Amino acid sequence: MKRRRKIIIFTVIFLLLLVCIVYASRSTSNNDVAPNSPAIAIDTSDDNTIETFTVTEDELAEINESLDETFSDMDTEIYFFDVGMADCALIRCNDEYALMDCGNTADGKLILDYLNKNNITKLKYLYLSHPHEDHIGGAALIVNNIEIETCLMPDKVVTTNVFEKLVDALLDKNVETISPKANDEFALGGGKLKILACDNENKELNSTSIVALFTYDEFDVLFTGDATTEIENQILSWYDFDDDIEVLKLAHHGSKTSNSMKYLEAVNPENIVISVGRGNSYGLPKAEIISRINKLDTELYRTDEGNTVYVTSDGSMYMMQYEDIILDGDGDGNNVTDDLQLVSCSKEEANFIASETGEKYHKLDCSYAKKISEEKAIYFATSEDAMNGGFEKCKTCNP
Ligand SMILES: [Zn+2]
Ligand SMILES: [Zn+2]
Repeated sequence: MKRRRKIIIFTVIFLLLLVCIVYASRSTSNNDVAPNSPAIAIDTSDDNTIETFTVTEDELAEINESLDETFSDMDTEIYFFDVGMADCALIRCNDEYALMDCGNTADGKLILDYLNKNNITKLKYLYLSHPHEDHIGGAALIVNNIEIETCLMPDKVVTTNVFEKLVDALLDKNVETISPKANDEFALGGGKLKILACDNENKELNSTSIVALFTYDEFDVLFTGDATTEIENQILSWYDFDDDIEVLKLAHHGSKTSNSMKYLEAVNPENIVISVGRGNSYGLPKAEIISRINKLDTELYRTDEGNTVYVTSDGSMYMMQYEDIILDGDGDGNNVTDDLQLVSCSKEEANFIASETGEKYHKLDCSYAKKISEEKAIYFATSEDAMNGGFEKCKTCNP
């Protein structure tokens, strides 16, 4: 559905509610409009005519309540939680739930408390995009305390404590664990998760990220984990984004190793969510990625600026806004994550080189490598370390 139509439908609903409520309350009470009443300005047509209504505080509260009720009856809700420098989202589709990543270890307790408080006792899916701590950190606690039908995760073993605890919990609770393949579909409350990528063999952990498209009728939300441009290219080679994508959860917290212009243009999302910690030391999201986003016709939501991002839909219309929910266990929104630490090495151990001020990394004998001064040189033992540090492959030496 086109954006203009959606906006018009919302405006019509809003106006109808406003007229009904104002009319009802005026006919049942003799309250005069207070002198400091809030005014609501609404764009009522395509030619930007603004009409202004003056309502009392009570009327405004009633309007907000009615709007909330209208949208809480909707079939689908998604929360992109503010978990600081990490990812965690919750999908409700009718009466079924999927938890999409689990934040850092310290966020697990807050995520669990949130599920308990909202009487969510069962998850149809626990999706763990890839085994980095900022995505699976809270997962073991969730598995140990919430009934889970199926866990979707890449078939990738890592030797971290966090991962071992998760595997123990999954085995202990006998949770069915599936490593999906591209094109697989998983039903969720009348909607579905369609898998666009899961590259178990990839040596770069971020590239093993499961990319999953949640679809409910015409409403589409793309979950990307920390998938890299290599995976974005794999997806573009077989999948056509011919339906409108309403929301894209931007890959890898806005890192340069993901989010190529070609991919962003192909997905062409109406809204983008970046899950990222306030003032994080990695400088994420990268300025270059923000400038790419600014070239698209899209609205940007950032958890570091507005906390949790909430979207609700009936399958054709949707509404999106910030919610004041923070599930960031470390409190600073700036947790150190495994995948984003800069792991460099000495010159003697180096196989690759990058410049502090550059964007590419190179083989040591690349002609560009020779131009990097000793003061600005950063050395890497492996290609993965260079990519995790935010550098892209040089097109000349193809490291
Ligand atoms: Zn990662
Ligand atoms: Zn991450």
